[in-house]
Amino acid sequence: MSNLRTYNATGFVLHRTSLGEADRIVTIFTKEHGKLNAVAKGSRRANSKLTGATEPFTNAKYMLGRGRSLDVISQTEILHSYPTIRTDLDLLARASYICELLDRTTAAHDMTASEAIYELTSAAFLLLQRAGPYPDGVVHAYELHLMAELGYAPALDRCSICEESISVRSTSFSVAQGGAVCPDCRLRVRDSFVVSAESIQTLIELRDSDTQTMLTINPSVRVSAEVARTVRAYVAHRVDRPLKSLHFLDELRQTSRPD
Ligand SMILES: [Zn+2]
Repeated sequence: MSNLRTYNATGFVLHRTSLGEADRIVTIFTKEHGKLNAVAKGSRRANSKLTGATEPFTNAKYMLGRGRSLDVISQTEILHSYPTIRTDLDLLARASYICELLDRTTAAHDMTASEAIYELTSAAFLLLQRAGPYPDGVVHAYELHLMAELGYAPALDRCSICEESISVRSTSFSVAQGGAVCPDCRLRVRDSFVVSAESIQTLIELRDSDTQTMLTINPSVRVSAEVARTVRAYVAHRVDRPLKSLHFLDELRQTSRPD
């Protein structure tokens, strides 16, 4: 059925906006073509066949037709709709953050690492559904791996300036330098802040663990707050303005993790 005017893509819905009376523009991160925007005609009508596959963070296969300005979604097949995430506010907030982060750190039609990023995102949503008391572990592992795929892996095992091993010494972190900084180099860096060795170790574990082990990581409230602050500062350096979904996520974090 496929010809030069149509193509297939497998991806995740990151974002959607209304267009006219009944249509939507959907932003999809695809394995094959990177991020793309496409029109889902009639998808706001109650009986539309496209409704399910244009819901945020749905994973689906799409057939698209090339349009003059925007491509048009013609057929869809839902692969995962993640019902567990949709009915849990804590998970929903984290999935929304993952979508916004991916949207904000990638450019349309940039296929650099798109297959790896697709697989990473797929793994993150599947893990979120199984996450225990520390769903932020899934989010932080995703952030660290996404930054790495985009070419911005933070230095965690060694000082980002002198490259000395820092695992057993008190450590700082510098967003501008790109990661951990040893006590000697810290004095030469303006933006550094102190991070406990335990938090650096947790970041390393989140980065290096296989999915099964990762779900068993459950740091103390103090360490999880420090890990969150460190990753946030690092990610914020890579996006031009704050992510909207972070505000909501922060409110949830304050209410759902009492000491
Ligand atoms: Zn150093």
